[in-house]
Amino acid sequence: MTLQTISSKKILDIFYDYVRINSETGTHSENKASDFVSGYFSGLAYFQTHPDRFGRFALPEDPFGRSVVWAFVKGRGKKTVILMHHLDVVGIEDFLRFKGHAFEPDALMHELKGSLDVLSPEAREDLLSNEWIFGRGTADMKAGGAAQMAVIEAYSELENFEGNLILLAVPDEENLSAGMRGALPLLDLLCHRHDLDCVLMINSEPHQRKTRDIGLFSGGSIGKIMPFFYSRGILAHAGKSAEGFNPIGLLSECIQRTEMNPALADFCPDSGEMSPLPTWLMARDGKTNYDVSMPLSAFGCLSMQPLNSHPSDILLKLKHMAMEGAIEAVERVNYGSGRYNERTGRKSGSKKWQARVYLFGEWLKMMIETCGQPFETVYAGTLKDICHRIGAGDITYATGTRMLMDALFEYTGCGEPTLIIGIVPPFYPSVSYLGRPDFKKTLTDLHLLLDEASRHHQGPAYDLEAYFTGISDLSYTSIKPEDLPAFRMTISHEMPLYGGLYTIPFDLIAGHAMPCINIGPWGKDFHKLSERVLKKDLTIHTPHLIQCALEHMLKSI
Ligand SMILES: [Zn+2]
Repeated sequence: MTLQTISSKKILDIFYDYVRINSETGTHSENKASDFVSGYFSGLAYFQTHPDRFGRFALPEDPFGRSVVWAFVKGRGKKTVILMHHLDVVGIEDFLRFKGHAFEPDALMHELKGSLDVLSPEAREDLLSNEWIFGRGTADMKAGGAAQMAVIEAYSELENFEGNLILLAVPDEENLSAGMRGALPLLDLLCHRHDLDCVLMINSEPHQRKTRDIGLFSGGSIGKIMPFFYSRGILAHAGKSAEGFNPIGLLSECIQRTEMNPALADFCPDSGEMSPLPTWLMARDGKTNYDVSMPLSAFGCLSMQPLNSHPSDILLKLKHMAMEGAIEAVERVNYGSGRYNERTGRKSGSKKWQARVYLFGEWLKMMIETCGQPFETVYAGTLKDICHRIGAGDITYATGTRMLMDALFEYTGCGEPTLIIGIVPPFYPSVSYLGRPDFKKTLTDLHLLLDEASRHHQGPAYDLEAYFTGISDLSYTSIKPEDLPAFRMTISHEMPLYGGLYTIPFDLIAGHAMPCINIGPWGKDFHKLSERVLKKDLTIHTPHLIQCALEHMLKSI
């Protein structure tokens, strides 16, 4: 029995049912999408014969009780390809008066045709062409999900095929990737139980095009790291500013040196790809009410998306820039206060500040050595309390980190202006076939094969990029063995909230390291009102390319 072409109707049926579920990320609604996926598999003959080959794997201590849905189709041998997609979608804040139809593509498109002025000229043209399907989650990524489910069904009808398939439908991708991080122990379990060898992970996020006629595969995924800067000053009444040190000045020196600084972005000459430039996602003081005092602290988070820089190198670079900024901030304050005190004849208040800059890990070690057990007790107690509040959804990881730093300084006190740099969750390692000779051949061969298969099938030509730049769960598919100790150490030491609530199973990622590729439909305007997916990719090209990739990867050599 050979693999049949999957009918367009089958894919559209799955797709519309899947889109209809509002599985907004970071909410209980994601469970409705999990119900749908597991319900679909439970209706297939294969899984009725083998009820132990699909199921739901609960995320531990998840505040929304979410789970990863999985399905395993067993063939011959050890070779296994994993099809992975996320089942959550982003919110619909910008759907204006069309919120009621966000999850009903036909009704939404009908309404939009009567309100063309809300769309860009390109979106308008696409809507009127009837070649695109609009709606929240259509492109990102129920289309890719539907194609993967249909492919699993097609393979489940084969007898004794070469290789094995696993499907993972994960929650929380648009948020903190709790789903993918939580799926790794499940993958480990399945590999041990069935003696599997994972040879490739396929994600099916939508791809964007630079040129209309050229599709895009990604052979990796960009990283994401969010360093925080906590600046602690010396409080003074604003009327006695020469006696204090405002932490905002210190933080803003750091912001000026890093915001949109190309020296902090990676460039990859092999592929011509570059990290988006770093930008600050938030920066604020620690004041909660108005009074005429300087704030005691200021806190900000910088978003960076590395291609190949290691977290430890990034932090050292930032520390160096922050030290230069701190010197300038301190010199300015010392000069101003000195002049003020001179002119007003105040001798006693002319203290010269000296700024201190630390990475969180080194500062923590120093405090434990200086303050001993009582400090450790305060740290553990505050951390527990903050994690509880994050778990309950009361505060974000960034707020929790700021509160923890405030509480620690509350205990230790601070005699000089101090700046601490660390990391706020989530952390996505950057992965790519570049720099991994073992993956490079697999990916370049696969690219050539799929490009030819697509053109043979009246589809577009395809380029291969080294990094999917939209941030994806593929980040958790591999870590180079030589990077493992440094990654684990940097993240666990420099991320104050690491452990318990937020962890990354680095050992499992390294243990099951495999090449990855994104094979998805052409999509546009993800997360916007005009989100849309190319119908022909959904119904024909994407499932066909996934099938070609599977046949190639699973065949025995
Ligand atoms: Zn997505």
